[in-house]
Amino acid sequence: MADSEDLHALDARNVWHPFTQMGDWLDGRPVMIERGEGNYLIDSDGRRYLDGVSSLWVNLHGHDHPILRARLHEQIDRIAHSTLLGLAAVPPARLAAQLARIAPPGLERVFFSDNGSTAMEVAIKLAFQFWQQSDDTAERRRIRFVTFDGAYHGDTLGAVSVGGIEAFHGRFAPLCFEPLRASNVDMASLEGILARHGDEVAAVCIEPLIQAAAGMLTFPRGWLRRVRELCDASGALLIVDEVATGFGRTGTMFACEHESVSPDLLAIAKSMTAGFLPLGATLTTERIFEGFLGPVAGGQQFFHGHSYTGNALGCAAALANLEIFERERVLERIAPRIEQLAARLAQLREQHASVGDVRQVGLMAGVDLVRPDGAPLDPADRSGHLVCMALRHRGVILRPLGDTVVIMPPLSTSADEIDELMDALSACISEVTGA
Ligand SMILES: *Cc1c(COP(=O)(O)O)cnc(C)c1O
Repeated sequence: MADSEDLHALDARNVWHPFTQMGDWLDGRPVMIERGEGNYLIDSDGRRYLDGVSSLWVNLHGHDHPILRARLHEQIDRIAHSTLLGLAAVPPARLAAQLARIAPPGLERVFFSDNGSTAMEVAIKLAFQFWQQSDDTAERRRIRFVTFDGAYHGDTLGAVSVGGIEAFHGRFAPLCFEPLRASNVDMASLEGILARHGDEVAAVCIEPLIQAAAGMLTFPRGWLRRVRELCDASGALLIVDEVATGFGRTGTMFACEHESVSPDLLAIAKSMTAGFLPLGATLTTERIFEGFLGPVAGGQQFFHGHSYTGNALGCAAALANLEIFERERVLERIAPRIEQLAARLAQLREQHASVGDVRQVGLMAGVDLVRPDGAPLDPADRSGHLVCMALRHRGVILRPLGDTVVIMPPLSTSADEIDELMDALSACISEVTGA
């Protein structure tokens, strides 16, 4: 077995890390994760770290939950994967029924894919093709998409097209289709766009309640509901991206529930398998589904699929995830944790002149680091990054978005672990900013 030094050499020689300046990476010595125990990650030197961002927003119940492990063992003893092209399979059939049961009302058809980006690609393509196949020729003009400033829907080109983060998406603009862009702070902007272009819009895309990748930017209460009303008035479809917010992160199973909204298309992934395996799904309505029915030779079927669509192990993990939600009454259990996090965030803001705005929805939060006079920090100083590096010495993993520290612990995080995380964050903010 290779010792820890060898592993670092292997990583440095051949692994290209996502969203990473590899020159900078190769100058450092990364934490090399080898095992997981509860909400902790354990590195190849045996050091333990609280997983404060749920392994990039995916893990829900810790890294070794016995129900997940048991269900995955049971599934792998039967079969790991078979295709949904031309064959049905047990885990996706069971999972689709469960998803239709827990999703916002009306979403009964489930198209499986592999991740959040593909779930959004499928939503965009379904919306586009649906209108192309309308009996009403005027509706076939609906070929445009509306997106919000700051949006993040994934890294494949369709998802990038409806993205609104310049640093991530700007470079690829020549490869992308051009959406209509609405303000994420002024609802009059969307109203204006739909007033002018409503009859050309196939769908409006939105992350409900909170734009996570933009830096945990929250929408005002009622925003999502208003977007739904405007879509209804203009005839546009509503695509809701719950890839980050789905499966309890906001305190309810889906963020849409906070405003009693049912979208026409819903994209889910990330926490669907509780962070165990990659899996995505796009849920939609009977109305959209029926728009694709016709004679086989008519070509109205949805020509889209991936090799691992409906993967049996992924679906088994997703079923185990839902089983845990029920058996452990997870949504009830996290309510006091959400309150505790809110109290600790308020405290952090009081105690540090270098903490500006703090935003929270459920167990998702963002802490803005600022200058003591409240002005933004110089991004070149990488203060968010430095705080997160300092946290590693205190046994906590967080990952910032610029100078916003993101906090998104697993739903299984205990009261003591929330305190551990927030105590460490407070100490590191003092250490790095001196305030
Ligand atoms: C992460 C994310 C995606 C992309 O999901 P991947 O599985 O990384 O492709 C899409 N939308 C939102 C809101 C996300 O947070």
